[in-house]
Amino acid sequence: GHEGAGGEEYLFKIVLIGDSAVGKSNLLSRFARNEFDSNSKATIGVEFQTQVVDIDGKEVKAQIWDTAGQERFRAVTSAYYRGAVGALIVYDITRKTSFDSIKRWLDELTTHCDTAMIKMLVGNKCDLENIRDVSVEEGQSLAEEEGLFFIETSALDATNVQTAFEIVIREIHNNIS
Ligand code: GDP
Ligand code: MG
Repeated sequence: GHEGAGGEEYLFKIVLIGDSAVGKSNLLSRFARNEFDSNSKATIGVEFQTQVVDIDGKEVKAQIWDTAGQERFRAVTSAYYRGAVGALIVYDITRKTSFDSIKRWLDELTTHCDTAMIKMLVGNKCDLENIRDVSVEEGQSLAEEEGLFFIETSALDATNVQTAFEIVIREIHNNIS
């Protein structure tokens, strides 16, 4: 939970969702450890990473949850979503099917989460411009339709990764203070 005055300690749960192989685990490792892994292996061990972000001089802690690959079987459980106040809904700009799945992921959020949640649509792998399959405009217009923030990222070259997480964390923080 969060505490106000004095201690100024905030802890926000944020979930990463989206089809398998869109780059969720690499977005988190880029953000939390500045690492990228070119081998696609299932997330092992830790189910979340806690990251401290400075928002206007305040220490804000984000607990960012990554799936352990259960999205492959459409089996992300309600425990994964429980208590989340933010979500990054990720697709791969080179794979249209992962973009077409976004509506299904949004339905999942509606089922499991508070409507006041901060949601960011993330088009990942923007370093692969030459094989792009989803235009920036398509991403933008879906985000507008659904009331989501929108950004394109690359976990590979680090483009906008910090920014994506920071916008979500800042918006959550602004909403409660
Ligand atoms: P997840 O299943 O959504 O967690 O996806 P992963 O993080 O495991 O990434 C799936 C594959 O995509 C891996 O081979 C990664 O190296 C690759 N990948 C992830 N992010 C990027 C990116 O921004 N650009 C490129 N070119 N490849 C990426
Ligand atoms: Mg993963």
